[in-house]
Amino acid sequence: MMLTVRNVEVNGRAGSDVRIERGRIAAISPVLPRGGMEIDGRGGALIPGLCDHHIHLFGLAARAASVPLEGVTSPSQFAERIAAGVATRPVGAWVRVFGYHETMAGELTRDDLDRLAPRHPLRLQHQTGALWVLNSLALASLGVGDDPPGVDRDTGRIWRGDAWLRTRIVAEPPPLDRIGARLAAYGITALTDASVTNDTATAAHLANACRTGALPQRLTVMSGGPIDMPVDGAFAVGPIKVLLDEQALIDLDDFVARIGDARTQGRKVAVHCVTAVELALTLAAFTAAGAEPGDRVEHGGVIPIEAIPQLRELNLAVVTQPAFIRERGDRYVTTVAAHERPDLYRCASLLAAGVPVAASSDAPYASPDPWVGITSAMDRLSAGGQLLGGSEAVSAARALGLYLDDPMAPGRRLRRIGVGAPADLCLLNAPLSEVLAQPSCERVAATIIRGDIVYLG
Ligand SMILES: [Zn+2]
Repeated sequence: MMLTVRNVEVNGRAGSDVRIERGRIAAISPVLPRGGMEIDGRGGALIPGLCDHHIHLFGLAARAASVPLEGVTSPSQFAERIAAGVATRPVGAWVRVFGYHETMAGELTRDDLDRLAPRHPLRLQHQTGALWVLNSLALASLGVGDDPPGVDRDTGRIWRGDAWLRTRIVAEPPPLDRIGARLAAYGITALTDASVTNDTATAAHLANACRTGALPQRLTVMSGGPIDMPVDGAFAVGPIKVLLDEQALIDLDDFVARIGDARTQGRKVAVHCVTAVELALTLAAFTAAGAEPGDRVEHGGVIPIEAIPQLRELNLAVVTQPAFIRERGDRYVTTVAAHERPDLYRCASLLAAGVPVAASSDAPYASPDPWVGITSAMDRLSAGGQLLGGSEAVSAARALGLYLDDPMAPGRRLRRIGVGAPADLCLLNAPLSEVLAQPSCERVAATIIRGDIVYLG
């Protein structure tokens, strides 16, 4: 199929026409002859499609298909919210509830949930993610035996039971079509799923979502263990994900062995690093095992200034989430010691030191909208208006650039618009300088992936 995008700003040049053929940019010229499908760009900028370098697709889809508890402040509101969620699901279908806190309706047990949902298996997750409460139908569906510590069937309360629950609850992964469409409307053309839980089964579901077009974006998949690249190339295999938990850190030898393991699979390594202790262990492990370009530090939640030269030395990329400043900043101000606050989600200081940096959402743990991240990288303001690490702010153009890298080389390889480049594009509704003065997803006029229009505003 041939597609011409007329009258757009390309690489700073206004009034260009861009011809797309067989999924690639075939020509860029002030005036191209008519033919094929056309989009009138009305002077808007045509930029490479955005990449979210760290997202959890099934988590995001599950969240979207769950009963939300935002704004609930009383037991009666809680009961109403659950009732409304139950009413939209057929009898016997699972109901998931996220974001519970005791300030809503106290310490819940299975009996409370049975009263609210007598005919649906229901599981409710605490805001911290550490606790699930299940009703009787949900508990019955788990079968009996092999309960790990933390599982209390009398109350239905399960502490730190995620891995065990996953082996017991055989639920189809939620469909990804609505997520795919929503991300396309943000101008996103590439995604990296960073879930350590990805395995052969989830990889098969992800590959299928790519094949059917439910997920139109190009996809790179991380995993905790080995996965194969689909023979049809439905997705690309990304780094091995290593999840650190400061409460139960793996020892250095195990960590080094895991990096060695990744190399034998021909994989890079991406390490979940939120605290200074986790970062110190990560730097020690890469120093011992050797780092390769493409290895990554995910989050970089706390980066002490003295760690920056070491990151540079090891040539590790930091994949940050600017929107955490917006969405969690007010909490950081009360919970993070003042002397550690300048180390939170650094950006400008890393770039200045030559550390490769790229951005992502970590959705569903923050908004999947990259334009929120761009704004947050520019202003470093919490939702409540607190400035966090003001010297880490970057220009609007640099903030956008954090989302424009090749998914396989975050922080290292900026994708550009040129003849021969893949037609993964985002059309904005105004020239770039105007959009960057006030970035917003409302600015996305169209999204094109492999030459196909996947979103038209
Ligand atoms: Zn994550």
